[in-house]
Amino acid sequence: MSGRVPESAAAVRRVSAAAAVADIIEAVVRPEIRALTAYAVAKAEGLVKLDANENAFPLPEAVHAKIAAAVGAVPVNRYPDGDADAVKTSLRSSLGLPDGVALILGNGSDELIQIITVALARPGAVMLVPEPTFVMYRMNALYAGMRFVGVPLRADFALDIDAMLAAIERERPALLFLASPNNPTGDLFPAACVERILHAAPGLVVVDEAYCAFTDMSFLPRVGEFPNLLILRTVSKIGMAALRLGYAVAAAEWIAELNKVRQPYNLNALTQAAAQVLLAEQALLAQQAAMIRTERTRLAGALAALPGVTVFPSQANFVLVRVPDAPRWFARLRGEGILVKNLHGSHPLLGQCLRITVGTPPENDALLAALKVIA
Ligand code: PMP
Repeated sequence: MSGRVPESAAAVRRVSAAAAVADIIEAVVRPEIRALTAYAVAKAEGLVKLDANENAFPLPEAVHAKIAAAVGAVPVNRYPDGDADAVKTSLRSSLGLPDGVALILGNGSDELIQIITVALARPGAVMLVPEPTFVMYRMNALYAGMRFVGVPLRADFALDIDAMLAAIERERPALLFLASPNNPTGDLFPAACVERILHAAPGLVVVDEAYCAFTDMSFLPRVGEFPNLLILRTVSKIGMAALRLGYAVAAAEWIAELNKVRQPYNLNALTQAAAQVLLAEQALLAQQAAMIRTERTRLAGALAALPGVTVFPSQANFVLVRVPDAPRWFARLRGEGILVKNLHGSHPLLGQCLRITVGTPPENDALLAALKVIA
């Protein structure tokens, strides 16, 4: 007896095992989760990466060395500081936060979106969001079982304030997300509109300022003025995407509630160590953000000069463009070694749109050279 199962018998067993797994999944996994496709992150090895709104400028060697030393000194056998106090202290001082206003940190602002949504997802509660916007708001509403209501932006991607106020009145949302500057459109929602929404909304209004380094407007100094305002931020867009560190600022009472939903050690010790080094480099971060803003102006101007290209005004570190054939342009750019984000088909207002992250000057030159051939 060799003990070897004949090929066909093994295959039969595999098929019936898979069928058994499928039966159990169908019985217990929520149908709305089964209907989803997992968020796909594009593979970018060897490509000029202009698809994910990162800061393309590398860190100076000396700063890398400081990070290596700090990370090397972490006692990895111990849990991290569950409150991440040192990171909070660095953030408090760099942001100039007053007393009475508190901070919560997340594994990226993605995790904070989830924490906020889970905390507010009372049965029947509504999340209201202008669309198109960052897709993770809608996803988290689905995960947490909140009823999602999207209010379309105008065709030029401006906020439809009358439609927003009507929807607030009708839906009485527990939670409202406003990404400003908005992703993927790049525009800033006018302060007067945000104020009207804050006054009208019966629940929490999250102003997501992921791209605030690339504009001059922020509601952060006004947190104390509105009892329902929470500011969400991330360090991902200013040069630290790999760390996965986001933060939210609101009245201490809000943060106390959100902390109950946060996992005890959500911010790992390596991130905490590296973040402290980088948060001390404010001049460098500001200088890189300024270079991105300069390049944004140059890139937007050059893109607008291409035949058939419409450029939407951006206050972020990316530019949204409408081109004659977005899927074809995306594929041709990819063939030239350049990865951008194809938004065609993701929302009715985003037909034939590509989102292009501002890169370093040579990366932007490569993009423009490729587009001159394609256009
Ligand atoms: N908010 C907005 C508006 C974003 O565009 C993004 C990233 N694309 C995030 C939040 C999440 O950022 P992170 O999880 O990297 O902090």
